[in-house]
Amino acid sequence: MASKNNVMKDITALCKRRGFIFRSSEIYGGIASTYDCGPLGVELKRNVKELWWRDIVQLRPDIEGIDSAILMHPKVWIASGHVDEFVDPLVECRQCHHRFKADELKNLEQCPDCGTKDCFTEPKLFHLMFQTYMGPVQSEDSIAYLRPETAQGIYVNFENVRTPARQKVPFGIAQIGKAFRNEITPGNFTFRTREFEQMEMQYFVYPDNAEKWYKYWKSQRKEWYMSLGFKMENLHFHAHEKLAHYARAATDIEYDFPFGRSELEGIHNRGDFDLSRHQEFSGKSFEYFDQERDERYIPFIIETSGGVDRCILALLVDAYEVEPERDNPDKMRVVLKLHPKIAPVKVGIFPLVKRDGMPEIARKIESDLRRHFMVFYDDGGSIGRRYRRQDEAGTPFCITVDGQTLEDDTVTIRERDTMVQVRTKIGDIPDVVRRYTVDWERNKGLPGGK
Ligand code: ATP
Repeated sequence: MASKNNVMKDITALCKRRGFIFRSSEIYGGIASTYDCGPLGVELKRNVKELWWRDIVQLRPDIEGIDSAILMHPKVWIASGHVDEFVDPLVECRQCHHRFKADELKNLEQCPDCGTKDCFTEPKLFHLMFQTYMGPVQSEDSIAYLRPETAQGIYVNFENVRTPARQKVPFGIAQIGKAFRNEITPGNFTFRTREFEQMEMQYFVYPDNAEKWYKYWKSQRKEWYMSLGFKMENLHFHAHEKLAHYARAATDIEYDFPFGRSELEGIHNRGDFDLSRHQEFSGKSFEYFDQERDERYIPFIIETSGGVDRCILALLVDAYEVEPERDNPDKMRVVLKLHPKIAPVKVGIFPLVKRDGMPEIARKIESDLRRHFMVFYDDGGSIGRRYRRQDEAGTPFCITVDGQTLEDDTVTIRERDTMVQVRTKIGDIPDVVRRYTVDWERNKGLPGGK
């Protein structure tokens, strides 16, 4: 069994090899902790985001979606507290000049990189927001920031959304979008990067009900991660004792990564901090008139804030397995046991040989199935090698057109987790795939397979 460090190395290599994720600007040596998604990565990400959007926005009458700008008025970040508070204390090793978050070193007296003792400078505050200038003149007055979270775009649009959508408290606003943080210690592949995507939902509630909704969203969000196919034993709640300036209560959903248990998503009771601050700084009222209670108040906010890229990394880690091949137990295969509903490619299509009309039939199946699913046509190398490639891509099904197909319009469908095959009519493939996807459990396989 590979050590935990090697697992991260192996997953990083698999991501590059199969076109999930690779370093940005790689031909120039890459740019620190910035990554691009290839064809499989972008599909996986889209699938996760679409499921979140469907479950949070489309299936719920009480939550609206928005897409706000990355660049916002600089006062937003003063009101939010980011200009004053979004800083990390940083220390530098006088010997190797590497910088570390002061709280990460805790009581360490020795530099983790070069081993020098008692080498650290006093902590200095380091600002995590990326700063730029808007317009032709670069001056104090033209400073703009790349948003470090998507949440502020929701708060400032509270009325712009609520009024046309005719929502009443309790209700929520959700968005998915890029955020930027000039992290001091990025790393662990895509776990902590400087550019990343968030899926955030802010739920506006009557203050006395905040605790109830906080509990509700905690359990909803853990269930959502479980619905993506995560192994239950790898997901945990972690309640915060030390709270950020805006929070009244905070819990993280954590995942057991090979490098340790770490945050996937935060659920926070933010009280009336955000709307009160924007009311104070903008001069616009954020008071809500509750007709049923005949009461005016600033709603409290329960936030669920997850990272798309972190979720993707956790899914890859959770799905990654190295196990013996079915017909040749001396040989090992690498397989991603992703839930079929998030798998980038649903069906691999292979002609057994490149003659006897098999490629033509396989191409026809490919073009028909493309209207239902993402598919991949592969006629390169032995069937075994084609299976291995799709196993590494997490493709739940591979179908093979063979001699019998020419006679009776059936193909073999081979299921990824169990490597078990069944024979199916070509016309039934979409149904088999759909039914299996709804019922999927890891290593369960297809009914009637051999
Ligand atoms: P951490 O302590 O890990 O930096 P955080 O507590 O600052 O995270 P939040 O501000 O609560 O994170 O952000 C919400 C979510 O956004 C996190 O749970 C994570 O999934 C994601 N996220 C935050 N920072 C990053 C980053 N630098 N890279 C990737 N994802 C991130």
